Amino acid sequence: MKKAIYPGSFDPLTFGHLDVIRRASKIFNPLLVAVAQNEEKHPLFSLEERQEMLKEAVQDIQGVEVSSFTGLLVEYCSTNKIGVVIRGLRAISDFEFEFQMALTNKKICDSVETIFMMPNETYSYLSSRIIKEISKMGGDISSFVPTHVTKRLHQKFKNR
Ligand code: ADP
Repeated sequence: MKKAIYPGSFDPLTFGHLDVIRRASKIFNPLLVAVAQNEEKHPLFSLEERQEMLKEAVQDIQGVEVSSFTGLLVEYCSTNKIGVVIRGLRAISDFEFEFQMALTNKKICDSVETIFMMPNETYSYLSSRIIKEISKMGGDISSFVPTHVTKRLHQKFKNR
């Protein structure tokens, strides 16, 4: 099977991300889930925290490895000989940005293909941003993220 990378902020990961990871891991091996070190997005969780949460969530999924990257994704792909980038597509709102990114990446590095996967409709409305907002206001997020992520979010907002 071919090697692929699923990059993202994962701040924090949700059941939507996990659904994409499970689907992609059936087609690609190894599947690198790579956390982007994007400080300009002011993530709630540090790079290490985001990686730790992912590692715990994917420990039962075969062929999945968690890593991180800085700088241009296509450069990371070239250096590590990765030919496939997986991205998740939710509603139409994701399309324009993802379309732009995929075509730009293709222009910069012709050997990298972007493949889009749609999550199960149950998760198609989920976003890390919404989860953080609900959690911050004390809402119940247990059906949107794994238990260990719920705990981390509670901890984070309690300490603020
Ligand atoms: P980024 O900052 O790179 O968009 P995210 O962590 O928000 O990072 O998302 C990473 C990838 O996962 C993106 O392709 C995004 O569209 C996708 N994604 C996010 N949430 C979901 C979801 N609920 N279902 C499917 N794909 C998702």
